[in-house]
Amino acid sequence: MTRPSINSRDLAIGGLQKLTLVDYPGHTAATVFTMGCNMRCGYCHNPELVLPEQFLDTIPVEDIFDWLETRRGKLDGVCITGGEPTMHSGLIDFCRGLKSMGFLVKLDSNGTHPDMLQTMLDEKIVDFIAMDIKGPLEHYSEIAARPIDTAAIQRSVRMIIDSGIDHEFRTTIVRSQIGMEDFELIGKLVEGSKRYALQRFQPGKTLSPQFERETTYNDEELQILKATMERYVTQCVIH
Ligand code: SF4
Repeated sequence: MTRPSINSRDLAIGGLQKLTLVDYPGHTAATVFTMGCNMRCGYCHNPELVLPEQFLDTIPVEDIFDWLETRRGKLDGVCITGGEPTMHSGLIDFCRGLKSMGFLVKLDSNGTHPDMLQTMLDEKIVDFIAMDIKGPLEHYSEIAARPIDTAAIQRSVRMIIDSGIDHEFRTTIVRSQIGMEDFELIGKLVEGSKRYALQRFQPGKTLSPQFERETTYNDEELQILKATMERYVTQCVIH
């Protein structure tokens, strides 16, 4: 297949990490960071990929493909994260290109564009999907600080589980944003999933400055949440 020509307007890439041993479970990979997001989670650690006024210079997609040519046979895969990658119409062509080069493709998404996920699953141009679960559906718009179509979120979750693709659902645990009692609803939302991760919030730079000093749950509380989630999913891990 000839390499697709993709304009930065259709796929705004703001960063490239040339090697990661942790982003793609079990594989060596590079990570591509897209710019732009339709959520505004206060605890987000990547404001420069979310807030247009902080956007970085775009890296031409052609340059990414050129560099990846040199990594064929050396890296197993490419992780695509953001921001929210599915906001970009060029994402599908980008994944087609990566697959034609022989790379595994991992996508991080907030699940707001199920139609795009469906296309990617149907074409088998993605090998692993990691999807954020912000909280129970009724709290989504509050946590994401944007109106969110929760039917789309629900559709993405079911599509990922039913497709049989390797996947992980994950929730960033910020004490002020999510209650212990919310995890029964989260469990029902992702019921039947292969893997769910409880991610401790790490203090530091955040999208909303008032989140800089937020806290996460302690180890004992996380173990209780893990036990709750294990009633719904095959594996629950704590990061
Ligand atoms: S944490 Fe929220 S705001 Fe940040 S990239 Fe993910 S979905 Fe977007």
